[in-house]
Amino acid sequence: MSILVYIEHDEGAVKKTSLEAVSYGKALGEKEGKSVTAVALGKIDDAELTKVGSAGADKVLHVADEKLSAGVIQAHANAVAKAYEKEGANTLVLAKSSLGDAVAARLAVKLKAGLVSNVVDLPDTNSGYKVKRSIYTGKAFAITEVNTDNKILAVKKNAVSLRTDGPDAKVEKLEVELSESDFSAKITSTDKATDEISLPEADIIVSGGRGLKGAENWGIIEDLAKAMGAAMGCSKPVSDSGWRPHHEHVGQTGVKVAPSLYVAVGISGAIQHLAGVNASKYIVVINKDPEAPFFKSADYGIVGDAFEVLPKLTEAIKAIK
Ligand code: FAD
Repeated sequence: MSILVYIEHDEGAVKKTSLEAVSYGKALGEKEGKSVTAVALGKIDDAELTKVGSAGADKVLHVADEKLSAGVIQAHANAVAKAYEKEGANTLVLAKSSLGDAVAARLAVKLKAGLVSNVVDLPDTNSGYKVKRSIYTGKAFAITEVNTDNKILAVKKNAVSLRTDGPDAKVEKLEVELSESDFSAKITSTDKATDEISLPEADIIVSGGRGLKGAENWGIIEDLAKAMGAAMGCSKPVSDSGWRPHHEHVGQTGVKVAPSLYVAVGISGAIQHLAGVNASKYIVVINKDPEAPFFKSADYGIVGDAFEVLPKLTEAIKAIK
């Protein structure tokens, strides 16, 4: 019996969240004495898939049909279900994401599987099968008991440490017959709103608040973001004032982010802002007020004037690179 992990990729590059799902699957496989097979759909090179082994997959099944590249949900669900049957799996692991949610919900019905989303730890199997998951935007945990034979676990971003030491995985092609109805809802074109790094996917984010005083000062945020290869975010009043576009607004009523590193500059740390950022792995706060509430949630803090600190930080990062 094996554990199957559904891999998402962005135009042929495996997503880090999927590698985290593979790492989780590997840890689960070690606990339950099962092998780990990943399944990837659409156009992606074998060399990229081989690397999935480093996160813990023993094997990768590749359904190479190019029609699957566009994230066609029903077709993805059916292709993954076929891989699941072929492998004789009883657990599907995937990353919690919008595509993952849509595919997992369909598979839960198809496989009559119990689905737990936002999983943060391995199941406790001492009595029953109890899964810990994050709720209320990371403020609390819930334990969900699953009593179905088939199980689907959607792993929260940044909740597991990424393995990188596994050997290359072998890649096997899998032919799956899909019908016209699998493609009845399809993406006909995609317009990227911007070439900038997308906030929900970003691994590093530099975010600015009202402490920046105005749109004309955003250059220091842009320079730091550029030097770090980061996406840019902002607090709600910043986008409400038109200093930055609304798609950059982070928080309870904006985008929820989960980068490895969130740098908050001139943001006070109101609960509504924190609700969108507390899944970040590390938070760095730069604020001139040592009493700013954000410091309580920070891993590192710099008390100082953003207009003095940021140019120096940017230069220091450029010098390292
Ligand atoms: P401020 O609170 O004005 O803080 C500015 C900070 O900058 C201060 O801490 C100050 O010390 C610091 N500062 C000033 N000058 C400098 C300097 N030169 N260098 C360094 N630091 C400096 N907010 C969100 O962000 N996201 C949301 O999704 C959101 N949703 C909301 C939903 C509701 C229903 C409500 C009621 C509010 C919501 N808010 C949200 C607003 C939230 O309550 C705060 O008002 C907002 O987050 C404050 O933004 P800010 O930290 O940029 O500004």
